[in-house]
Amino acid sequence: MRNISPLFAYDTQIWTPYPPSFSSQKALLPNNPFIFEDDIYSFLSRILLMIRSVTDLDVQGKKVLVRVDFNVPLHEDGTITDDKRIVESLPTIENLTSRGAIVILMSHLGRPKGKRNLAYSLAPVAAHLRTLTTAHVHFADDCIGEAAQSVIASANPGDIVLLENVRFYAEEEANDADFIKSLAHLGDMYVNDAFGTAHRAHATTTGIASHFTERAAGLLMQKELQYLGDALGKPQRPFTAILGGSKVSGKIDVIRQLMNSCDTILIGGGMMFTFYKAMGYETGSSLVEADKVSLAKDILDAAKAQNVRLLLPTDAVIANAFSNEAERTIVTVDHIPAGWMGLDIGPATCAVYTEAILSSKTIVWNGPMGVFEMSNFAAGTLAVAQALTQATAQGAITVIGGGDSAAAIAQFGLEKQVSHVSTGGGASLEFLEGKPLPGVEALSL
Ligand code: ATP
Repeated sequence: MRNISPLFAYDTQIWTPYPPSFSSQKALLPNNPFIFEDDIYSFLSRILLMIRSVTDLDVQGKKVLVRVDFNVPLHEDGTITDDKRIVESLPTIENLTSRGAIVILMSHLGRPKGKRNLAYSLAPVAAHLRTLTTAHVHFADDCIGEAAQSVIASANPGDIVLLENVRFYAEEEANDADFIKSLAHLGDMYVNDAFGTAHRAHATTTGIASHFTERAAGLLMQKELQYLGDALGKPQRPFTAILGGSKVSGKIDVIRQLMNSCDTILIGGGMMFTFYKAMGYETGSSLVEADKVSLAKDILDAAKAQNVRLLLPTDAVIANAFSNEAERTIVTVDHIPAGWMGLDIGPATCAVYTEAILSSKTIVWNGPMGVFEMSNFAAGTLAVAQALTQATAQGAITVIGGGDSAAAIAQFGLEKQVSHVSTGGGASLEFLEGKPLPGVEALSL
């Protein structure tokens, strides 16, 4: 079998990189006098300077509306499978309760499609919250109107009121003005701690903010922006990004954006096969997005033109079916037989990627290297996760961008051994793509 260098040199026409997305940022914020930086991350750090922290608010005796992201995974019996998002919001909640605020929590859960559907009730979350805090937790079975008002009226300073799922109203996602008024009427101040929903321009994440001169970011929101912003805006070099996941289509913008700031990009997951197709390899029955092949080729060209080290796996674990019980073997990526599919990166690639990770000072990871949910195809994702923990121990900053990579590192029990695991998959991806987050912008003064 032929040996392939992981650093593929690709000699074709030069692709014009985009963004540089800043002109679009300007268009989105036409009246903002503070925009004068020429890249998104400097721009975001400016925005952050215009945002107050929850700790700056004088909250004693005040009713503080806090948007949290309690969109947690639930078992069928309503018990919570992973309470990370709740636990991560506790510092903000406790900062407020300890200073005598009445904390009114707003969140969504799942996609009830604008209708009251008790399968998506936040009542189990209120019950779980009671096990995590000594504060008195009330639950209002509506997020607006008399039901919400009467529960809030019965709360004392230092108490918490969790409102029912805001997405029981279609007006939430529509950012509806009357709905916003009904919500805003419930509190004196507004805090947004829901980084996981910051990429959505909904009533409780954006529209409501302008009703309050006293508005601020929560501690989780600040922490997320700090880690992601620092990693991307002022990375210690070498700066490496690891990108995996199922499809290249979901990651094109992030690859393009990261090429502007990274020294090395490591590719894995299902998306690698679209790159191989672009290079003329046979990919068997691996996941390939036929309509993205030329785009993959453009990316390879652009990496070369921009002098970014873009590494693709040299070997893969292939299987004769999409199943943990399937027959499997390891091949170099130019030897995938018909009828077989690549479901993980191979051991030679793991070694090269581990070395690349260990020689980096800043590492951002988004998307698993293989079908980690099946134990026979989890080795590549595990190798990357372990390399990240080693790099962290050596002093590197390691940031996991939420979503499936966060699920993977939690599955391996390694989440405490990296610098930061984001609570927002979609939000962190949009941040990495250089898109403005409406929930963050709405907080700026
Ligand atoms: P999120 O969008 O939730 O942040 P992500 O960006 O981490 O997720 P996705 O693009 O959603 O990643 O893809 C994750 C899925 O990709 C996982 O379920 C994993 O099993 C699957 N996957 C990884 N490698 C392959 C492969 N070689 N073939 C098919 N599926 C794969």
